[in-house]
Amino acid sequence: GTADLECDLLVLGGGPGGYSAAFRAADLGLKVVLVERYAQLGGVCLNVGCIPSKALLHVAAVMDEVSHMADLGVDFGAPVVNIDKLRGHKEKVIGKLTGGLAAMAKMRKVTTVRGYGAFVGPNHLEVEETTGTGQDKTGTKKVIAFKNAIIAAGSQAVRLPFMPDDPRVVDSTGALALKEVPKRMLILGGGIIGLEMGTVYSTLGARLDVVEMMDGLMQGADRDLVKIWQKMNAKRFDNIMLKTKTVGAKATPEGIEVTFAAAEEGGTAPAPQMYDLVLQAVGRTPNGKKIAAEKAGVAVTDRGFINVDIQMRTNVPHIFAIGDIVGQPMLAHKAVHEAHVAAEVIAGEIQGNKELASAAFNARVIPSVAYTDPEVAWVGLTEDQAKAQGIKVKKGLFPWSASGRAIANGRDEGVTKLLFDDSPEAHGHGKILGGGIVGTHAGDMIGEIALAIEMGADAVDIGKTIHPHPTLGESIGMAAEIAHGSCTDVP
Ligand code: FAD
Repeated sequence: GTADLECDLLVLGGGPGGYSAAFRAADLGLKVVLVERYAQLGGVCLNVGCIPSKALLHVAAVMDEVSHMADLGVDFGAPVVNIDKLRGHKEKVIGKLTGGLAAMAKMRKVTTVRGYGAFVGPNHLEVEETTGTGQDKTGTKKVIAFKNAIIAAGSQAVRLPFMPDDPRVVDSTGALALKEVPKRMLILGGGIIGLEMGTVYSTLGARLDVVEMMDGLMQGADRDLVKIWQKMNAKRFDNIMLKTKTVGAKATPEGIEVTFAAAEEGGTAPAPQMYDLVLQAVGRTPNGKKIAAEKAGVAVTDRGFINVDIQMRTNVPHIFAIGDIVGQPMLAHKAVHEAHVAAEVIAGEIQGNKELASAAFNARVIPSVAYTDPEVAWVGLTEDQAKAQGIKVKKGLFPWSASGRAIANGRDEGVTKLLFDDSPEAHGHGKILGGGIVGTHAGDMIGEIALAIEMGADAVDIGKTIHPHPTLGESIGMAAEIAHGSCTDVP
């Protein structure tokens, strides 16, 4: 049939994956249409994820820092929180960034279409117009014909089936809405998102409980780092319930009553507890089953993921997929990297440019950061993973209690830890395999370790790189020197 719009590339979803793909493809000369159901571009990350959470976490970190200042000689007194103004700050941050995206789309002549998209064939997408601030459908439909497509429809928070429909039960989006500060809050799931939101609420005055099925918080991070994080954050929590499942919840006038069970046979279950706010942060589920992918012939897994090759291509050669919808880790910087790969492959194939067409996802590592206080950041192998994989490693662990800058900052609890290959084939010059940092600004420093891994640096390369003094970044050079056995002095 006839289409209302035609393009070289259709991008479904306006999050970090989608807009990055659309912008790169437009820069490479393609005619691009970007479909997004919400009024603003930016997806989860800019609207209800990375950015608003960091706007609030920044304020929380400053509040925490200020609360230590009396010990350093300056007492600011008790904070007075205006929650409406705080929420307003967060909204302004989002507005600035999403407004910037809209302007960049216009500048690049990317056609943005507001509406809910679903495939109707291998080269056609139907978009039902949406309106308002949400995704209310108007009934008006448009068909877009495309040569190639990139699916970037993202993910959404998992909801436990037994959770009551109650305003006191929220997911991360509800928590970011910051309606009020509860007295007692339960965080369901001890991962990054739950602990970040918990940090904000506890700094604003809430008491926290956290329940986690596994035997530790922040799964994926090195246990040496998490131990320090937990020690520094112990004051925020009444109960840290590990190896524990949440099995029921009931809305009562006094609060949400939550019941628990031991995750392992023989374990003991904590007693039921009453909460003013329950945050569900037990993971995110991809949107793969909601876009009629089958009409285009694109295979979707039982869990809603779309499998792709290293060029981000689905089982249908002219349709690609990127971001949260293709799998873990569900992180914005991964989505953006994948977006560029897909856009370059498509542009290269359309234009007969072999170099572009051979683009592929070749990154060795993807860093992770918990923007808590202190921050925890890690990349590549952890010590436990190396052990499990039978890889012999040499480690360099630099405690910030020996860092002049950390001491001057009054924040010397941190640690920088690097792991180098110590297998016999490495002959004592093993490459860096992984690293982690717990401490203030850890997230801003982890990029150096990611670069070292990408470049195949060894301990001498990193240790002999001159880091400016006095900085927290010096701790990376020092950790390398410690691993190499050449550390003779500390700054
Ligand atoms: P999304 O951002 O999910 O975007 C998908 C877009 O597609 C959405 O705008 C959606 O409305 C649209 N869409 C979906 N289906 C349709 C359809 N049928 N029709 C039209 N439009 C559709 N990551 C980090 O790297 N750092 C962080 O600090 C960080 N913090 C986070 C904090 C929170 C609270 C949360 C929830 C997530 C956080 N993340 C963070 C994860 C990050 O937000 C995601 O990895 C990222 O947004 C994924 O990008 P994406 O483009 O794949 O999908």
